[in-house]
Amino acid sequence: MTAAYKRVALIGLGLIASSMAHAMRQFGLADEIVGHAKSAESRKIALEIGLCERVYATAAEAVQGADLVVLCVPVGAMGEIAAEIGPHLAAGATVTDVGSVKGAVVEAVAPHMPQGVHFIPGHPIAGTEHSGPRSGFATLFRNRWWLLTPLDGADRDAVARLRGLCEGMGANVDEMDVAHHDLVLAVTSHTPHLIAYTMVGVAEHMRRVSNSEVIKYSAGGFRDLTRIAASDPVMWRDVFLTNKDAVLDILGRFTEELFVLQRAIRMGDGEHLHAYFTRTRAIRRGIIEAGQDTSAPDFGRVPLGGGEGKT
Ligand code: NAP
Repeated sequence: MTAAYKRVALIGLGLIASSMAHAMRQFGLADEIVGHAKSAESRKIALEIGLCERVYATAAEAVQGADLVVLCVPVGAMGEIAAEIGPHLAAGATVTDVGSVKGAVVEAVAPHMPQGVHFIPGHPIAGTEHSGPRSGFATLFRNRWWLLTPLDGADRDAVARLRGLCEGMGANVDEMDVAHHDLVLAVTSHTPHLIAYTMVGVAEHMRRVSNSEVIKYSAGGFRDLTRIAASDPVMWRDVFLTNKDAVLDILGRFTEELFVLQRAIRMGDGEHLHAYFTRTRAIRRGIIEAGQDTSAPDFGRVPLGGGEGKT
């Protein structure tokens, strides 16, 4: 198979970058993979585990001669990196990113992209609660959606080539408008994370139940929320700071629904609760039918002691 790109520069060497490196290597999608991370420790690990052939102490050095540059840093760091690499990008190179928010990334990165460089924002809807260079794995993107949000006038050949890379790593690719992406993700990812953080925070603050009881008797619902609430604090801080409007919009709707349910509970309106939970159950079925989760009990989790369970 002909490699999609000759030299790929990964800026940031955490979960997403390392998963991309493993997948690109497994499927022969890049002749050479180089990288940069902020800390010497991450750069050292990346070399040790063979994530990159070479690592550089600065992003500016890493991007030189690369025909694809992937920004895999937290959303809040994208602008600073773009300003640094702008003057060092090769003519005709493609720059993409994997940030969870698109509007803020476009605003921060686009002004630093020189003429003749194709900036094509993107977002793989795939992840785990783990972070760092050791957390990646080649199958992370398999059967997951990778959203590309090309800007007006984007070079269609460059978009098609990037699409080919994402598909080569096993993802399904869709194109979407930047603002629409941020609203959709506020519903499907950002607000649910905020709710998980809040519920785990509530449990932590509860005085009547000791912490040990919260952990010892953690039932399915709470346990699943703790997994989400264990996600990287820097990444999620940046998501909420940069997708403010869409998250506040969805949070407003969430609060209204919560009050309606609260009232139904207070009034003993079982009919309302039953009808509501029946509708939400159908959404779960839809996700399973779309192949985005498993119907195995306990969300397909392998029982404790039963091997590695990555869900
Ligand atoms: P991660 O595992 O925490 O890795 C982040 C990497 O960025 C680290 O290597 C870190 O370097 C580096 N970094 C941070 N600030 C930097 C800076 N100023 N300059 C250079 N390197 C810097 O993060 P991740 O989960 O891969 O997330 C990366 C991006 O993917 C984020 O924008 C996130 O929104 C997006 N995303 C994440 C998920 C998910 O579930 N995790 C899913 C889809 C998209 P050090 O290791 O040296 O600190």
